[in-house]
Amino acid sequence: MSGPAPLLSVVIPIYNEQDALPLTAARLRPILDGIGGSYEVVGVDDGSGDDTAQVLDRLQLEWPELRVVRLRRNSGHQAALTAGLHRALGQYVVSIDADLQDPPEKIVDMLALARDEGFDIVQGVRDDRSSDTFFKRSTAAGYYSVMRRLVGREIPKHAGDYRLLSRAAVDALKSLPETQPVYRLLVPWLGFRSTSVTFQREERVAGTTKYPLSKMVRLAVDSITNFSAAPLRLATWLGLGSFLLAAVLGVYTAVEQIRGATVPGWASLFIAVVFFGGVQLVCVGLLGEYVGRIYSAVQGRPGYFVGSDSADVRPSAVDEA
Ligand code: UDP
Ligand code: MG
Repeated sequence: MSGPAPLLSVVIPIYNEQDALPLTAARLRPILDGIGGSYEVVGVDDGSGDDTAQVLDRLQLEWPELRVVRLRRNSGHQAALTAGLHRALGQYVVSIDADLQDPPEKIVDMLALARDEGFDIVQGVRDDRSSDTFFKRSTAAGYYSVMRRLVGREIPKHAGDYRLLSRAAVDALKSLPETQPVYRLLVPWLGFRSTSVTFQREERVAGTTKYPLSKMVRLAVDSITNFSAAPLRLATWLGLGSFLLAAVLGVYTAVEQIRGATVPGWASLFIAVVFFGGVQLVCVGLLGEYVGRIYSAVQGRPGYFVGSDSADVRPSAVDEA
C-alpha cells in the first residue's frame, strides 16, 4: 500500500475459518466504511488447511481495503497477531478474532476513545462469559488470577485479544525482541495510558474453536515463562522442602534402626523414592521450560514466516522480525 498511512488497521488472525469469513466480512465492512477515515484490514492466514485462502481471494476482489498476509505454516494465534501487528500501517491498530465473537461494532467506540481522549490502548473486556463452555470459563478464571500475580500488574479480567493500540503502542511492541509474545500480558505491561470497553462475547458464527486444550496449555506455559521466574523459585522451595522432609525421615529411620525395628522401613523407603522422584522430575521439567526458552531466544528464529502480502510489491518477502 502506498500513500499516507491509513487511519485504522484491523488485524485478523485467521486459521481454518472458511465458513466464518464471509459472515465476518459482511458485518465488518459497513462498520469500517463508516469510521470516517481510511482503513485497511490485515487478514493473516495462519497456514489454514481448508478453503480459507480461496475465500480470502474472493473477498479481496470486491473489497480493496482487504489485505491478505499468508504465513507459510500454522504458527499459532499470537504469532499470527505478531505478523499482522508488524505489517499494519494504520495510525491505530485493532486486533479482532475472525469468528465474530468480538462484536466489531465496538471498534467505533474504541477509535473514539483513542482519538478524542488520547488513550493509547483500548482493551476489549467481556462482561461475562455466558457464551463459553464451563470448561473454558473455569480455565480462563484460573489463568487470569495466576497471571495477575505473576505479571505484578493489573491484567484486565476477561481481556482477550480484542483491543485497539495507537501507533506508539504498536511501535513499542514491535521493538520488543520477544519471539513468543503473549499480548494480553505484554500490552498492560507496556504502561501506556489505557482504558477499556466492555462487550458481550457472542457465539462463534461458524466453525469450531481453533484453541484445543493443547494450544491452551501452550498459551498458559508461554504466559508464565514469559513473565516470571516464580516457577523456578518454586522449584527451589520444593527442593528445600523435600530436603527437610528427607532429614526428618533420616532421623526417624535412624531411631527405628537403633530400636531394632528395621523391617517395616520398606514403606517409608518406597514413599521417599516415589516422592523425591516426582519432585526431581517436576524441577527438571521447570528448568527445561526455561532452558527451552533460552535456546529459542539464542537461536533467534522468527515466530513466523510471511509467504506473501497482497500489499507487497515483491511477493514472498521474509519478515525480518
Ligand atoms: N487462530 C489462529 N491460529 C491458530 C488458532 C487460532 O490464527 O493456530 C485464530 C482463529 O482463526 C480466531 C482467533 O485466532 O480468529 C481465535 O481463535 P478461536 O476463536 O478458535 O479461539 P476461542 O475464541 O475459541 O478462544
Ligand atoms: Mg473464538
